[in-house]
Amino acid sequence: MARKPLIAGNWKMYLTVADAVELATAVAASCKGLTDREVMIAPSFLAIVSVAEAVADSPVRVAAQNGAWKKEAALTGEISPFMLIDAGVNMVILGHSERRHIFGEGNDIINQRVLGALEYKVTPILCVGETLDQREQNNTFTVIEEQLTEGLKGVGAEQITEVVIAYEPVWAIGTGKTASKEQAQEVHAYIRSLLVTLYEKTLADEIRILYGGSVKPENVDSLMAQPDIDGALVGGAALKAESFDRIIHFK
Ligand code: PEP
Repeated sequence: MARKPLIAGNWKMYLTVADAVELATAVAASCKGLTDREVMIAPSFLAIVSVAEAVADSPVRVAAQNGAWKKEAALTGEISPFMLIDAGVNMVILGHSERRHIFGEGNDIINQRVLGALEYKVTPILCVGETLDQREQNNTFTVIEEQLTEGLKGVGAEQITEVVIAYEPVWAIGTGKTASKEQAQEVHAYIRSLLVTLYEKTLADEIRILYGGSVKPENVDSLMAQPDIDGALVGGAALKAESFDRIIHFK
């Protein structure tokens, strides 16, 4: 089954509500008539309702940058998947390297977040990726295997095709350094082989694996030409309508 490419913008802790709505409106205009790819944007929680309203009549999907696992609970600072659906948001980025490395989120909590998202029909984008140190110590595959297997614990075969995986080498995020297309493809193929082992080939062939790490207009075409790269998770270049438009229209 052909995997529909997904171009996802992670706006991190940038943009006021008004700026977010303006950019979302421009992204919706960029997506007019596009049917062969999906586009997603992840604004801050403060802007998420206004952005969801701004793109409601377009195919643009709105995602949260993190999400909890219960309908409601005493979890200060968290947002539940039930609240996301209520706000018109049906995707969530989980296990982003900034959550792992700045806020200390480990595989256990990320796994709870994945299971919670799936329970409420919010599509999780599970991010995995090695640090520079781990790559230099030849531990890339070990780290990826651990993050993937722990992050997907308890996710059944009937749910796995709802999950999107994002490979984001930590050393390439926000640094301007992109993994070469060969480096990225190598890890993507490895992730797909792990998914074959954890599930089965027909299911693994349906799962989208995005690349993230300094994706820009200049490198998106060659990355997207790789057989196991099914989309991009874009930070910096997603904050400008023009550069994101070019990325959305990768060739
Ligand atoms: C990201 O935030 O997931 C990311 C990949 O950022 P950037 O594109 O800026 O490297």
